[in-house]
Amino acid sequence: MVYPIVIYGHPVLRKVAEEIDRDYPDLEQVIADLFETLYKSEGLGLAAPQIGKSIRIFVIDGKPVGDDEPGLADFRRVFINAHITEKYGDPELMTEGCLSIPNLREEVSRDSHIKINYYDENWHIHNEEYDGYKARIIQHEYDHLDGILFTDKVGPLRKRLLKSKLIAISRGNFEADYKTILQGQKIK
Ligand SMILES: [Zn+2]
Repeated sequence: MVYPIVIYGHPVLRKVAEEIDRDYPDLEQVIADLFETLYKSEGLGLAAPQIGKSIRIFVIDGKPVGDDEPGLADFRRVFINAHITEKYGDPELMTEGCLSIPNLREEVSRDSHIKINYYDENWHIHNEEYDGYKARIIQHEYDHLDGILFTDKVGPLRKRLLKSKLIAISRGNFEADYKTILQGQKIK
């Protein structure tokens, strides 16, 4: 099923999400729903807190930018209980957006390289290194599991300028082509 996307201001986006184990109820369905919701909203990645589930899963599918970034065309992954164990390389600036913060894009500085371990949907463990666009998307989604949003990472001046925009978004003042849930609204 397609879930509504939780919007900035909702407390679930600020919680530190919990690790899960293999017995997590309907995990297969949760993963399918995350992808279905991601495709409906035309994003590149989606973390479980963004559908109101405070658990450590995120999914990525780079297909929408596959024409410009060939390495991403077939980059479809499920990350369960991921740990970024190392970040390195020169920090890079890149413009980011987020399905939970519609109509807002800002330049964010992040480390260029990461090492990460995680389980996939079959509970196979992976230890991988990423750089470039993939490292960027993974770090953005991973932050969601710790209650961190990309707008937290902009400089102090930009942050001050963003404040009123973020308040407006939290009150529902935005356009989105997908269903959303605001603070104070009940999930499910
Ligand atoms: Zn996001």
